Amino acid sequence: MAKIKGRLEIDKERCKGCAVCLTACPFSILELGREVNSKGYNYPRVVDLERCTGCASCATVCPDSCITVYRTKQL
Ligand code: SF4
Ligand code: SF4
Repeated sequence: MAKIKGRLEIDKERCKGCAVCLTACPFSILELGREVNSKGYNYPRVVDLERCTGCASCATVCPDSCITVYRTKQL
């Protein structure tokens, strides 16, 4: 059976570092990085992309629609 893999694009300049997306991920693979955007907010990064299923929970809860999720089938 094909496995679904996810990939995220995070619009870091729009992010306000609220961390809501971190708690929404069922696999806890998002964390706030040390880098900040031009407004001084830390933005998230994926720490274990291999485990991302593309479920899009993170994108759904983001109040600023900063996250776009792409899903691909792995054979
Ligand atoms: S798409 Fe789902 S599994 Fe991937 S980082 Fe977002 S919440 Fe986590
Ligand atoms: S929920 Fe959105 S605004 Fe909040 S930290 Fe995540 S990407 Fe940034």
